[in-house]
Amino acid sequence: MRVLIKGAGVAGLAAAHALVARGVEIAVSEPSPGVAGAASWYAGGMLAPWCERESAEEAVLTRGIGAVDWWEAALPAGSVHRDGTLIVAPPRDSGELRRFALRTSGFRWLAAEEIAALEPALAGRFREALFFPEEAHLDPRNALSTLRADLEARGVPFGGDIDESDFDLTVDCTGAARIGDAAGLRGVRGEMLYLHTDEVALSRPVRMLHPRIPLYIVPRGDGLFMCGATMIESDDAGPITARSLMELLNAAYALHPAFAEARLVETGTGVRPAFADNLPRVSLQKNTITVNGLYRHGFLLSPALAEEVATLVVGGQLKRGHAR
Ligand SMILES: Cc1cc2nc3c(=O)[nH]c(=O)nc-3n(C[C@H](O)[C@H](O)[C@H](O)COP(=O)(O)OP(=O)(O)OC[C@H]3O[C@@H](n4cnc5c(N)ncnc54)[C@H](O)[C@@H]3O)c2cc1C
Repeated sequence: MRVLIKGAGVAGLAAAHALVARGVEIAVSEPSPGVAGAASWYAGGMLAPWCERESAEEAVLTRGIGAVDWWEAALPAGSVHRDGTLIVAPPRDSGELRRFALRTSGFRWLAAEEIAALEPALAGRFREALFFPEEAHLDPRNALSTLRADLEARGVPFGGDIDESDFDLTVDCTGAARIGDAAGLRGVRGEMLYLHTDEVALSRPVRMLHPRIPLYIVPRGDGLFMCGATMIESDDAGPITARSLMELLNAAYALHPAFAEARLVETGTGVRPAFADNLPRVSLQKNTITVNGLYRHGFLLSPALAEEVATLVVGGQLKRGHAR
């Protein structure tokens, strides 16, 4: 069976990886050159199923828990950082920490000196924190580029205008491009920025809770930090607004004043594709498997969805009449 994957964001590349691992002949169709431009390009790369449970269904935790191992197996050693997640809140918002703790599991409380031991740059800044030791993070851009290069090295063709009719089956991973066409799919705008400073060093994602402007900062190494992200009910992929930029920068400054002197090296906007329950779907119709609705969990849930796609493709169902 020959399978065409449409879309080289994280959903498409993970599905491609899982299919190639099972010996399926595939090609990947992607109109954008490289991997830039997709929602996946702007992601934080946090593999944080316990933290995400604060606002997500239990399925995000149960399906996301295997993501760290999957990415470690798929990427070169050292690409996945198993350093956990730190959650802090300004003293006046300590109620936010307690609310977060009530809605999650898999953490321990840290006192001020333990925060300082874990992240010396934050010494003296927060009285208490939550630490989720099993969580991890990766650099999404490296992960996407590596997956693509690996697939190309194994002979998988990539192209912008591959003829779908040459294939027995299509796996549609086109994300927000399906808004307006896939029933119930909507966009959730996420604005983010990259700061560079040598004045702050962090070893793991730090989330700072706030009733209106929550912030996370993900260290990329060499003084680079990804700061995110807004959650706006809109599929507008246009540039970051002045308000969002000010709010994210204010929050970064509240986390550590040295961010005031940081260089703003990039801003960006990604549109997260989401269904009403914010859970992803893998659906099969005729000759097309559709994977969509990864919302804010593309890197966390693509591994589980990719394995689901691979099971559908190499399992019995498709051979019994779905393929072209
Ligand atoms: C600011 C931000 C931060 C985030 N942080 C995290 C995080 O820390 N952890 C996490 O797990 N998730 C995170 N996410 C969510 C994650 O990025 C998304 O869930 C994920 O990128 C969705 O992946 P996708 O492959 O479905 O879509 P996309 O990444 O948008 O990829 C779709 C691809 O399909 C291509 N395409 C479109 N039309 C066609 C067509 N007709 N034919 C072929 N190809 C087509 C597009 O060019 C694109 O490359 C974040 C998202 C944002 C915006």
